[in-house]
Amino acid sequence: MANGRPEAQRLEGTVLTPGGWVRGEVEFDERVLGVRGEAAASPGDGAAVVLPGFVDPHVHGGGGADVMAGEGALDIVARLHARHGTTSLLATTMTAEPADLKAALGDIGQRIERRTAGGARVLGVHLEGPFISEGKLGAQPRATRAGSVAELSTLNALAPVRVVTLAPELAGHLDFIRELRSGGIIPQIGHTLGSYEDGVAALEAGARGFTHLFNAMTGLHHRNPGMVAAALAHAEYAELIPDLLHVHPGAIRAALRCIPRLFCVTDSTAGAGMPDGIYRLGTQTVTKCLGGVRLADGTLAGSTLTMHGALQNLVSLGLPLLEASRRTSTYAADYLGIADRGRIAPGCFADLVVLTGALELSAVFVEGQPVDLDGTR
Ligand SMILES: [Zn+2]
Repeated sequence: MANGRPEAQRLEGTVLTPGGWVRGEVEFDERVLGVRGEAAASPGDGAAVVLPGFVDPHVHGGGGADVMAGEGALDIVARLHARHGTTSLLATTMTAEPADLKAALGDIGQRIERRTAGGARVLGVHLEGPFISEGKLGAQPRATRAGSVAELSTLNALAPVRVVTLAPELAGHLDFIRELRSGGIIPQIGHTLGSYEDGVAALEAGARGFTHLFNAMTGLHHRNPGMVAAALAHAEYAELIPDLLHVHPGAIRAALRCIPRLFCVTDSTAGAGMPDGIYRLGTQTVTKCLGGVRLADGTLAGSTLTMHGALQNLVSLGLPLLEASRRTSTYAADYLGIADRGRIAPGCFADLVVLTGALELSAVFVEGQPVDLDGTR
């Protein structure tokens, strides 16, 4: 390692670049130095495939840890997801009382500064609430409140807030959306009882994406089109949880036809990468069983999905690997306004995922550093 940067190294295979597939090699240190080889129409014949590392803007936990727990939990989460190909993520908080959110962001901010060796890079925070609807909590606890620029500023000083999930129909929230946008924070529509018209008004005010499209929002009825229709008709970007439990494949296909840059998130919780059992989600107790995570009343409470699983699920639905990669990496980076991640191009961070021809993970690099895929936590 020279000057704190890894030595230049090379990976051979079929490399996905912004311009398409290249059969050859990628050279990188901390950043991508170059991609050389022949353009190819497809990844080809079972050889190794090199994709941009996955970008997941909605992560609550993994490896038994919840990002709000403090005391090193975020390190465990970042390492667990790196072992499944996620190279950058947003630590996502649950609705909570002001003091609990402050404590969580204080800890997350320190961890972001320190950086977790062998873990995914934590790019900042996604606040999933508390500025959401009491009537569409999903698995969120009943600690909602109206959007507050003062509270947001306090939290943003502790850790960089990138995305705020909010219900736009609540009093004062269109102004709150405008304030967030002018402060460089992405207002994202979710956990909402709002109508189609509320959604259109929110988009016009500056809201951008939708939080786990279809889940915890008003559905589409043809005479009462709801928030889902606002997304399908007008959104450029939206999150989707492709664990095939949260959203039926038919609804995923419909969304793919409507939303140009639909991107995948895991909404993963502490049970990701862990055996069935009882885990924490913010202040909630949840049970992982049969591939799902639920509250005691059966409500889905996040997922145990990994981004590698998300990619495999998209391919299983018939998406070409190139498109599946864009929807698990590039579009989320674009959404967050990050130009040097989510793509393999000179100057970008060497966030790389290497897959076998059968799409099994064989290597992961975060900023050029190899991830130990066999780690236990
Ligand atoms: Zn969530």
